[in-house]
Amino acid sequence: MKLTVVGCGDAFGSGGRLQTSYHVETAQTRFLIDCGATALIGLSRLGIDPNSIPTIFITHLHGDHYAGLVWWLIHAQHVAKRTVPLTVAGPEGIEARFKTAAEALFPGSTGVQRRYDLTFLEYARETPLNVGPVRVTPFEVKHFSGAPPYALRFETDGKVLSFTGDTEWVETLVPAGRGADLYIMECYQFEGEPRFHTSWRTIERNLDRIGAKRVMLTHMADGMLARRGEVADPRIVLAEDGLVLDV
Ligand SMILES: [Zn+2]
Ligand SMILES: [Zn+2]
Repeated sequence: MKLTVVGCGDAFGSGGRLQTSYHVETAQTRFLIDCGATALIGLSRLGIDPNSIPTIFITHLHGDHYAGLVWWLIHAQHVAKRTVPLTVAGPEGIEARFKTAAEALFPGSTGVQRRYDLTFLEYARETPLNVGPVRVTPFEVKHFSGAPPYALRFETDGKVLSFTGDTEWVETLVPAGRGADLYIMECYQFEGEPRFHTSWRTIERNLDRIGAKRVMLTHMADGMLARRGEVADPRIVLAEDGLVLDV
């Protein structure tokens, strides 16, 4: 499994990083995890064709994680001339939220006749969902976004890849990432217990309990970016836009 960081920034442009999006290539398929507003920019920089991606998994309904679907829609129509089906899996209500955002930004964009099938799937808490060869299990976390937010645990290619999405520390983060080959964890600040987000010190205290083989820190705000050099644990990888990892 090959993971490419399309964007690992937060909602505020910290560090000049693009908004959240990860590209995963397995032996059998490709998929995107989250699709922040800048996802197309990141994919273009990396030379990844959106038409080669059949599935997008969304963790939660904040713009820096799903708004890129709006630009995806108009790009598929006017530039990529997409014909291959697209499946978008996300929290309850994702289709309505997507349509509202798309109509606000590009009026009429959702009513245009499409040349491809667009299917929305909704998660059910801790119930595995199979999309082609990818099994995803959503674990509810704590991060207000007008719909349940989830950490996602992907199983495919005999590997486990997990992602916290955005969240305060909650105990569901332990089973979500238990023993994962790679656990992508949001790490908004270095220490303390921020509302809505997690700090490095909190992650550090829980690493042994989670037991992930590697942990990638992402979604870092400026304060965390300034201190990321102090993170010394050998299991840790610091996310960078464009970073490629073999999982
Ligand atoms: Zn975010
Ligand atoms: Zn968020």
